[in-house]
Amino acid sequence: MGARTGKAYIEGLRDDRRIYVNGELVRDVTQYRPFQGVIRTLADLYDRQSDPTYAPFMTTPSPTSGQPVSTSFVLAKTQEEMVQRVNGERARCELTYGLMGRLPDFMNAFVADTAAIRDLLGRQNPRFGENAWTYYEQCREQDLCLTHTLVDPQIDRSKGVEAQEALRVVKETDAGLLVRGARMLSTLAPVSDELWVGPYMPRKPGEEDYALSFSIPVATPGLKFICREPYDSGQNQFDRPLSGRFDEGDAIALFDDVLVPWERVFAARDVETYNLMGPAFPGYITLQAVIRGTVKLRFLAGLACMVARAVGRTQMPRYQEMLGELVGSVELAEGLITATTHDVLYNANHPLGTEEAKTEASATSRGVIPGLGMLFGVAGRGMVGITAIRLFFPPAMARAMEILRLMGSSGLIMTPTEKDFAHPDLQELLPRHLRGRDLEARERVRIMKLAWEMVGTQFGGRQSMYEGFFAGDPIASRVIYYGTNRRRDCEALVQRLLDSSKDSTPNS
Ligand SMILES: Cc1cc2nc3c(=O)[nH]c(=O)nc-3n(C[C@H](O)[C@H](O)[C@H](O)COP(=O)(O)OP(=O)(O)OC[C@H]3O[C@@H](n4cnc5c(N)ncnc54)[C@H](O)[C@@H]3O)c2cc1C
Repeated sequence: MGARTGKAYIEGLRDDRRIYVNGELVRDVTQYRPFQGVIRTLADLYDRQSDPTYAPFMTTPSPTSGQPVSTSFVLAKTQEEMVQRVNGERARCELTYGLMGRLPDFMNAFVADTAAIRDLLGRQNPRFGENAWTYYEQCREQDLCLTHTLVDPQIDRSKGVEAQEALRVVKETDAGLLVRGARMLSTLAPVSDELWVGPYMPRKPGEEDYALSFSIPVATPGLKFICREPYDSGQNQFDRPLSGRFDEGDAIALFDDVLVPWERVFAARDVETYNLMGPAFPGYITLQAVIRGTVKLRFLAGLACMVARAVGRTQMPRYQEMLGELVGSVELAEGLITATTHDVLYNANHPLGTEEAKTEASATSRGVIPGLGMLFGVAGRGMVGITAIRLFFPPAMARAMEILRLMGSSGLIMTPTEKDFAHPDLQELLPRHLRGRDLEARERVRIMKLAWEMVGTQFGGRQSMYEGFFAGDPIASRVIYYGTNRRRDCEALVQRLLDSSKDSTPNS
């Protein structure tokens, strides 16, 4: 089949999925109004794959069928293949302004990373490695849209994983694994084809039943998704320029005795393999996240410039300093894309040997928090991408939001609706009082509303949460680095100076 059209994507969503929203079981997500905006956005992206302008870099011939398939499945090992990946992913992020963290590209990259470690997955049971590869080919050839869940629910984090009612194996049968429990937080779930369950927090010995990675269709019997309330309230694009197009939807996945067929299992009841998955990934997933983050920073920097211009303050040194800071972040982020491609190419061409991975990850975990490991990436083997999404993008995004708030100030709040502009009593007044520098009132209000959607509405609040947490617990994300050789290396540098100046020889 190869690259899908938007129509094929939408048709694929009409199945027996169990999606609960606001007390309602949504029978057909394509007919549920709050999901229609994001479905249209995704359908448009699928359609671009056959648009002559985009097809050359969004698709590439499949190595098996020869049909065009998404470049986000390319297992890039050469510079040329890497350029294909980056161009396709960048184009999709630009079409969505970096506002959708879980574009299908994100999971395509995850599935590619999993396929790349099939030898590791196959060491417990060769079938699991083959499953990862077959599934990768299936996703590529059918152009499936995936959601994923990595994190255990929050019930009582002072206790172990059992207390969280986390997803676990309850029975093995000839047909597969029977699983029960919950996982969070599945972004894009209501409008995806498949759910991928994978590793995040390393499991400890004794937690074998919780060490699971597999994929199943969203419409699998027993699988239920409970969605957060949608942010698309049906307002027009003038008043809500973003939530009607880019609200991805988030859900908790509940597994009410779900049968996972053996051919869809990638790791099961093997703590070591489960814990090594993330560290062994080449990092296609982190590269996609860095590209997406960079595009969003560009969008925020551009928006801040327009807000500053709208109020006539672009000549003020204070404003120029803030805008310069944002543009500088974009510059740095572009460099992080380049650096990440370099690391991912290295990793893809130097698969982590099982023994090496074991030693590094467990040594690291001894140095950090027992059982924490490196989650994704291994120190000394190309961690720019994961480090960028843990440590650079969250504060850079938060700063961009703060700058938007500082610059827009009351202008972000005082934004009459489209209906106000149409009211006969206000036709003279609004254009006079709400205009900006060289800007008509409607245009100025549109810019301010866009900024308000980014920083103030439910949509904007969720965007902030996403940037802060999507790469995991922000505290653990820092602690991890304390246990790495890099920290020891930093200390060694200072020690060298201290050692070199032990005696009392005067400085010349
Ligand atoms: C909008 C959004 C979308 C998401 N989408 C997805 C998705 O599609 N798929 C997916 O799998 N996950 C998704 N996530 C989940 C995300 O991966 C988690 O939020 C993240 O891993 C943090 O886990 P947690 O929410 O359970 O928080 P916790 O781990 O409970 O952490 C909560 C807070 O406690 C702090 N904390 C934890 N331990 C300690 C300690 N020992 N000492 C001091 N402080 C501590 C943390 O730093 C954090 O600030 C999403 C999250 C958000 C917000």
